[in-house]
Amino acid sequence: MSRPSVVVVGGGISGLAAAWELTGGVEGPNDTTPRVEVIEAGDRFGGSLSTTTFAGRTIDLGADGFLARRPEAVTLVDELGLHEELEAINASGASIYLHGALYELPTGLVLGVPTDLAATLHFAGLTWRARLAARRDAFAPRRLTIDEDATIGDIVRTKLGRELSYQLVEPMIGGIQAGRIDELSAKSVFPALLDAAKEGGSLMRALRHGGPATPGPAGAVISDAPAFYSLRRGVGSLPDELVTRLAARGVVLRTGVSVTALRRTPAGDYPWEVDTVHTTTPANAVVLATPAPVAGALLANFDAALDELRRIPSASTAIVTFAVAREEIALIETGTGVLVPLGTTWSGEGSMMVTAITLLDRKWARHVRDDDVVLRAHVGRSDDTRASEMDDDELTGRVAAELAELLPRFGPPRATLVQRWPNGLPQYHLGHQRRVERARAAGARLSVALAGNAYDGVGVPASIGSGRRAAREVLASLATSSRVN
Ligand SMILES: Cc1cc2nc3c(=O)[nH]c(=O)nc-3n(C[C@H](O)[C@H](O)[C@H](O)COP(=O)(O)OP(=O)(O)OC[C@H]3O[C@@H](n4cnc5c(N)ncnc54)[C@H](O)[C@@H]3O)c2cc1C
Repeated sequence: MSRPSVVVVGGGISGLAAAWELTGGVEGPNDTTPRVEVIEAGDRFGGSLSTTTFAGRTIDLGADGFLARRPEAVTLVDELGLHEELEAINASGASIYLHGALYELPTGLVLGVPTDLAATLHFAGLTWRARLAARRDAFAPRRLTIDEDATIGDIVRTKLGRELSYQLVEPMIGGIQAGRIDELSAKSVFPALLDAAKEGGSLMRALRHGGPATPGPAGAVISDAPAFYSLRRGVGSLPDELVTRLAARGVVLRTGVSVTALRRTPAGDYPWEVDTVHTTTPANAVVLATPAPVAGALLANFDAALDELRRIPSASTAIVTFAVAREEIALIETGTGVLVPLGTTWSGEGSMMVTAITLLDRKWARHVRDDDVVLRAHVGRSDDTRASEMDDDELTGRVAAELAELLPRFGPPRATLVQRWPNGLPQYHLGHQRRVERARAAGARLSVALAGNAYDGVGVPASIGSGRRAAREVLASLATSSRVN
């Protein structure tokens, strides 16, 4: 048989990581390395990782850091020789906007779930009812029977009451997932919480002793070690470097072309043909590193379990970045950002759209300047699509008006930038893991591997891990079929 061919559909970080692994990873290509072609619909590689220049700084427009505790991103950075670029994000702490005022978050939160009773009882942002609920969990915890899975909301509402759930846990988890705790699966999103709830007794105590970070987009961070890393030239420099290295390995890299169909050709040398509008690439195996609904649509005719991927929902978000003259702004005293609970009222129409603010020069000293301050505001959740109905000017004006209420002072910005992420954050609802397992098994029978943040966790490390896993599956199936032939 001639050299095997693998097509990777989607050139986000998971697709690029898959191509890296397919071409030998850190070892590089050898005699058995297949021909690899990466096809990306957008006009650049990187997907949700993108870096630009704004107000004289190099800033990220999507992901701006990654969990240090999960090894996949740090390992890839090392393999690419970028270790010196790693930048620990040591600054921590944040505030939350509750009942019209800003409060520094209490210590001991694990993804918003309190684990330190004393700190929770001293937290001035809560009503007496929430403090009572925390005390009850410590001394007379409520019972909760869980079979295989439960929503995060079911667990925290039962154990800790509504106020702690919606005023602390949801803003934190919602800020990461852009989803609702009443829909998100604890098993898939926050397994440490599920384990803690299954133990029975006090949820706060069980989570405090819950052991090391668990897999998933937001594995519980319990120790004091640096939680996040970034890269000096932006997280978006990671896909840029990968693209350069993959090109040097002879990988065919195509942007601005969507894959429109996958066709089976069982009689020929290559069981697959991968179509774009103008081209057809024969392939022995395919890595689908697109959002799940795209993968589902491309594979719908081959297996019902693959068609099911279309039902994995996602949230659209947007980030509005501002530069404001230093004399025009007053910030919270400490911390790197502000969380805003869902449904927070303000002087304008409806509830606030802003879900979180990140103070960029608090997180990265390299962004500090004498004359201005840079920050970014996040909008959009699984059930809040208002941003998508506004043009950039309207959205920027609305967000600026909300910031003027959220922050001690927020004057007219010098520069603004809107970055939209339509359907950028998959939502792991109940049954997610089973659906993914079934789809993976069906894909394996067809020599199609699934990669991306819809499967093994949202986040840069999980996406890299899933890309490399998909590549290993494909390499194993190629090795088996070459032995058979
Ligand atoms: C606003 C935002 C902030 C985030 N912040 C963080 C953070 O701070 N830390 C962190 O760890 N994670 C963060 N994440 C999550 C993280 O960025 C993602 O989980 C990860 O980048 C997903 O990579 P991916 O390759 O799976 O998907 P994507 O980046 O979505 O890539 C999929 C690619 O497939 C392409 N595609 C789609 N259809 C086709 C087709 N038919 N043919 C060819 N190509 C196609 C798309 O154009 C896209 O480039 C954030 C995400 C968002 C949206």
